[in-house]
Amino acid sequence: MTQDNTLAFFQGDFVPLKDANISIMNHSFMYGTAVFEGIRAYWSEKNNEMYVFRLREHYERMLDSMKIMYLSDIKYSLDDLCRITVELLQKNAPKTDTYIRPAAYKTVHRVGPSLDNNPSDICMFTVPFGDYFHGQAGLKVQVSSWRRVEDNAIPARAKIVGAYANTSLAKTDALMAGFDECIVLSEDGHVSEGSAMNVFMVKNGKLITTSSTENILEGVTRRTIIEMAAQDLGIPCESRQIDRSELYIADELFFCGTGAQIAPIIEIDKRPVGTGTAGPISTMIKDKYIKVCRGEVPKFAHWLTPVYADLKTEIKK
Ligand code: PMP
Repeated sequence: MTQDNTLAFFQGDFVPLKDANISIMNHSFMYGTAVFEGIRAYWSEKNNEMYVFRLREHYERMLDSMKIMYLSDIKYSLDDLCRITVELLQKNAPKTDTYIRPAAYKTVHRVGPSLDNNPSDICMFTVPFGDYFHGQAGLKVQVSSWRRVEDNAIPARAKIVGAYANTSLAKTDALMAGFDECIVLSEDGHVSEGSAMNVFMVKNGKLITTSSTENILEGVTRRTIIEMAAQDLGIPCESRQIDRSELYIADELFFCGTGAQIAPIIEIDKRPVGTGTAGPISTMIKDKYIKVCRGEVPKFAHWLTPVYADLKTEIKK
């Protein structure tokens, strides 16, 4: 299927992506009041199967984001959202790594920012999606002069469209200054996260990541690493406040996120991280994570939703 006849889920139906359009008077377009998720599905050539990574966890977070933004009046349950996603993938039938972008948005056409008396709906599309950082062995990163949105301004734990203006400003300045990415601090000067990814540090053989109260989006990938560290890797892992200067003396640093996957950082504010190459723990986690996503680690197969499995059983019947 080409992008021209790709389907989207829009206004309760599967429709051609080119027909899934909203008005310039849409509330969420005018005020950034939609919330969204970024989910990955991985193609396994070996198993002739597509695996959606931690589908339910993404929708659990989306339902939380929706609650914060008064978007909870939709008629779809967690199970419905998972089922629609699998159905959309089955209809589009990709055989390549794919990004799934569901959103919940306000449908009313009216001027005025308030969220009440404004019904919500769900939409969703899929696009082919390869590596976010193409072919880079490690990233050169700056600490941004922009600060992360505060919980009492725009809560970062909700994936709110409007908050991504903050992300865009930080990311653009980093790219224009010749860096690959940035780390954004909270207003009080502590480490928050990357532009669209969480950050981990390795110090003396221990993994350390920022706590959930540091104005971060609590990443599904971050949680995956914390769980893998405890259940599989045997590496101690701690969530706590991190100072900016701790980044400069870390043995290893890496980003994690659905888009970025695991992305080692080799330079921070012009200082080499460790030896200035991707460190052994970051590299090991990166390799393991991809194997998990492609269905090559039975122990973590419960994190994957196979897309074509029930179609194959139907054909066999
Ligand atoms: N922080 C922000 C601001 C993000 O946009 C993302 C990407 N969704 C993440 C962290 C990482 O979250 P996840 O691992 O769930 O993709």
